[in-house]
Amino acid sequence: MRLDTSHMRYLSHDDFRVLSAAEYGSKNHEVIPTNILHQLGGLRSTSATNRSISELAKIGLISKMRNAKYDGYRLTYHGYDYLALKTFLKRKTVYSTGNQIGIGKESDIFTVGDDAGKENVLKLHRLGRISFRSIKNNRDYIKAHENLSWKFLSKIAAEKEFAFMKALYENGFSVPVPIDQSRHCIIMSLIDGTIMRRLLTHDNPSRLYSTLMSFIVRLANHGLIHCDFNEFNILIKDKFDTPEEEIVVIDFPQCISISHVDAKRYFDRDVESIKSFFKRKLNFESDYFPEFDRDVKREQNLDLLVNASGFSKKEVKEY
Ligand code: ADP
Ligand code: MG
Repeated sequence: MRLDTSHMRYLSHDDFRVLSAAEYGSKNHEVIPTNILHQLGGLRSTSATNRSISELAKIGLISKMRNAKYDGYRLTYHGYDYLALKTFLKRKTVYSTGNQIGIGKESDIFTVGDDAGKENVLKLHRLGRISFRSIKNNRDYIKAHENLSWKFLSKIAAEKEFAFMKALYENGFSVPVPIDQSRHCIIMSLIDGTIMRRLLTHDNPSRLYSTLMSFIVRLANHGLIHCDFNEFNILIKDKFDTPEEEIVVIDFPQCISISHVDAKRYFDRDVESIKSFFKRKLNFESDYFPEFDRDVKREQNLDLLVNASGFSKKEVKEY
């Protein structure tokens, strides 16, 4: 499936103003009344606003709320995607859109091209797609905002993921190159490799195992625990120079601080995921595995830098 951008070139300047008004209005209104859309859009006449409204509604960027007490519209996921893409186009981080390469419970992944023709990855966070209750409970920013909209939650997830990825990239971790972020979307480099889940054999499982365990420990020494460190979020490259470069770790919105009350439990769970995959799939077991209390020694405060959940105000003062 391709990301549908076919209407993008046909939308008029007025249409985009009304679409932006729908986004802005949704900060204060669940359903945005037509007269507010008109005021915020600043179009010269109500009939011009109405024309744009019906154009946007026809292609599904906003939708009419029929059950509301008043006549109003809501920005759709599709509309929110458009606004983010428009921003990327303007910043020249996206020039063309390509195929969908992944679909998760909470995201859609596409390839995109920049204007030099380089292929990158666009990840669109979709947090409202499933019930908030079933989302992992370590995402305490969700607990705090349980009744907030999918737009807001997806945006926070993208901002968090981008911030984590940037901090890790700048500290030499093997993660995709963070390129841009807008609203619920991030752009990162495309990794040429295979998802670890697909791995059936490996010529040196012991080396790979130790690379992965070292990543977990080094990440913790920098103040963070991934919390979803498993075969679905690790890419194995075909070509690499050092063992560290063989793996690329993705999917960071749920990272927590090593000062989180449940840090040890989540650390152990990440370690266990790797042990279990190696036993099940690669028939490899080792007596060695990292332990939170014995092996984690704080060297950096990336959790403070990116405001990871679990890092309390009190600790911020201490560092
Ligand atoms: P989710 O939060 O939905 O799990 P992920 O970030 O884990 O999303 O991405 C889902 C899938 O998309 C991954 O399992 C991987 O196959 C693919 N993918 C994501 N990012 C990249 C990337 N930078 N390069 C290559 N493939 C990627
Ligand atoms: Mg994932």
